[in-house]
Amino acid sequence: SLDAGFFTRWMRAAADAMDREADRLTDLDSAIGDADHGTNMRRGFDAVRTALADEEPETPGAVLMLAGKKLVSTVGGASGPLYGTLLRRTGKALGDAPSVGVPELAEALRAGVDAVTQLGGAAPGDKTMLDALVPAVDAMPKGLDAASAAASEGAEATVPLLARKGRASYLGDRSIGHQDPGATSAALLVAALAHGGG
Ligand code: ADP
Ligand code: MG
Ligand code: MG
Repeated sequence: SLDAGFFTRWMRAAADAMDREADRLTDLDSAIGDADHGTNMRRGFDAVRTALADEEPETPGAVLMLAGKKLVSTVGGASGPLYGTLLRRTGKALGDAPSVGVPELAEALRAGVDAVTQLGGAAPGDKTMLDALVPAVDAMPKGLDAASAAASEGAEATVPLLARKGRASYLGDRSIGHQDPGATSAALLVAALAHGGG
């Protein structure tokens, strides 16, 4: 089962991925947004990494709640409150258990994704982070690798979509033909869970 150390490694692996892929995320956002998604995610997850090292939270829920709080406070723009809500709500749903299994994590992430839906008003197919997150949560009962594969496929499947939420929606038809930056970073987050947490 997955303890606080596992969740801390997940968040560190996510921070590494956002560092490594920041230029790509910003390039994607320059096509259909304002060219800041890579810097937003890197700044946010750097702050998460520092806060986890300083505070050493002792339960999975506390790790994710701290991470979410840091994302809200350090990331301007749409993605900070949305990712912050995802992690805070998921952490809250995990409660104070010292360790959790994949089924419990899947259930908690479902609550987190539902909170993102409520906050942002987007649905799957609107060309947002939800297009990676929802398939990942749906696939998670089959395991973390299945979730990661589903998130990557979901992100790639945003290319032909018309953006209906967020900044990219201002472009109308011109948003078609580009991969959504937030769906791409969401796939990195789920890949970090599958490959970095262990
Ligand atoms: P901003 O658009 O404020 O510059 P970012 O560039 O950091 O913020 O993040 C953009 C990403 O946020 C988009 O690619 C999309 O995936 C996601 N996003 C934007 N609005 C919403 C929403 N209402 N619901 C879900 N995700 C959204
Ligand atoms: Mg942007
Ligand atoms: Mg911005």
